[in-house]
Amino acid sequence: MTDPRRVALLNASHLCFFEFAPRLLRHLTYEELKTKPSVLKNVGVELSGRMARALGMCYPERRRIALNEPYFLKNPCYLPYTLYHEMVHMFLFDAGRPWGHNREFYSLMEEFPSTKYPADPNVHIHMRQARAGKRQKQARDDEKAQEETLSGFIARVFGGLT
Ligand SMILES: [Zn+2]
Repeated sequence: MTDPRRVALLNASHLCFFEFAPRLLRHLTYEELKTKPSVLKNVGVELSGRMARALGMCYPERRRIALNEPYFLKNPCYLPYTLYHEMVHMFLFDAGRPWGHNREFYSLMEEFPSTKYPADPNVHIHMRQARAGKRQKQARDDEKAQEETLSGFIARVFGGLT
């Protein structure tokens, strides 16, 4: 039997994927757009019930992003954050760049607040401490805007479900 909450969560993850992809593709040069048309293409986003520790995993060669199903069923509002994180890995890989948690990775993650989805407070690797002060202020400024979209996102994920 299919859990409707699981289906809703999967649908939301696909909507978010297509919402986020253009933000990342903007960072390709014209030359890269011409020569790397496969960037962020043919990517499957899946929910996994077997992820012990990670909230998300990116498998670039397999064109697959896996998200921790039990965690996001409990915390659907933080799904966009982890999905974006894994998409940044995929984007860097596809663009032929180092795709670990490097400087470019963090600079792309810094754009996440502009999506207006909330950052997951349970994740600590997303922000470098050195510039945390500046971003803490930005985070406070963003908090209100995020709260406003948070209920909208949850409604989108679990809309019509109880
Ligand atoms: Zn990562």
